[in-house]
Amino acid sequence: MSITARSVNKKFGNYTALDNVTLDVPEGELLALLGPSGSGKTTLLRVIAGLETPDSGSVHHLEDDVTRHSAKDRNFGFVFQHYALFRHMSVAENVAFGLRVRGWASADVNKRVSELLALVRLENLGSRYPAQLSGGQRQRVALARALAARPRVLLLDEPFGALDARVRAELRQWLRNLHNEVPVTTIFVTHDQEEAFEVADRVVVMHRGKVEQAGTPEEVFEHPANAFVMDFLGQVNVFHGRIHDGKAIVGRWELDVPEYRSYANGPARVYVRPHELDLTTHANGDPALAALVSHVNPAGAITRVRVSVKEFGIDLNVDLTAARYAELRIKKGDNVYVSPRRVRVFESDYAI
Ligand code: ATP
Repeated sequence: MSITARSVNKKFGNYTALDNVTLDVPEGELLALLGPSGSGKTTLLRVIAGLETPDSGSVHHLEDDVTRHSAKDRNFGFVFQHYALFRHMSVAENVAFGLRVRGWASADVNKRVSELLALVRLENLGSRYPAQLSGGQRQRVALARALAARPRVLLLDEPFGALDARVRAELRQWLRNLHNEVPVTTIFVTHDQEEAFEVADRVVVMHRGKVEQAGTPEEVFEHPANAFVMDFLGQVNVFHGRIHDGKAIVGRWELDVPEYRSYANGPARVYVRPHELDLTTHANGDPALAALVSHVNPAGAITRVRVSVKEFGIDLNVDLTAARYAELRIKKGDNVYVSPRRVRVFESDYAI
């Protein structure tokens, strides 16, 4: 493993920021730490960086226990959301700074700076000053600076968090390509599910200082380990029902539960993602729920429809493909029927 954290605990006063966190990051992986604000992502990154000492547990880099090593000795690269570049230095000087401090010879520094500026596609901007760059360009300079001394590990804390949505989307793609070119082990903190899924090889979902689940984006999305992960990953509809002998019962619905885990009989939350609900204008054979269309929002490839289900007194979101929407031709006020194609079920005693 490139980085391993073992049973790491960290408290700030009475507040438990990290609760027995264990993490393995293989060499060359791009890993996202994903979770809501306050879930401990930054604290974990800082413990790995050596900027924070854990109360107990250990951090390993390759074969070495680096728990007691200073941040400087670990020699990892960092980029933070508001990574202040030196304002009085040009782009090239900013990238060169760490190399000069390490005593690199001038010719080597110049060669490396040219390589890095080419890598981050800023080869013509070396003589500019940070104030003359866009936010996205500044973060690319910060990345070049972090990569300059060929760190074995790169730690990124919401590096694109302060940028607008379009630039952020571009930089995600760019980071993914950069990582393909220079596959340094990278740990990336974000609270944005889309960002984590688009960029990362593997995602670690954190909540209240604990790791809730680790897996590829597909594993985590398709097989969420618990109700928190399900709730956190995009919008969902939730019903309160119960589990009985391997079926989820919601009103007149008797639904097959997914088979990747087992379930105890008793109260349950039944989740359906908006694109996994089907909508029809006539009741078919299924025990479909009668509902009234309250809102239709055709937004390109997907039309989001909001319906009220009288039987349960709840509103549901249904996502229709453009083709399905064209077929149904529904509008506000129409009577429709909804039925789930697929559900995810979790016992109700799970505290969210
Ligand atoms: P965010 O996305 O908001 O940065 P996060 O998941 O990165 O959240 P952390 O920054 O790790 O979360 O913080 C976890 C908790 O620990 C928070 O409640 C925070 O207030 C607390 N905390 C972090 N650093 C300190 C500190 N130095 N002193 C006291 N409390 C701290």
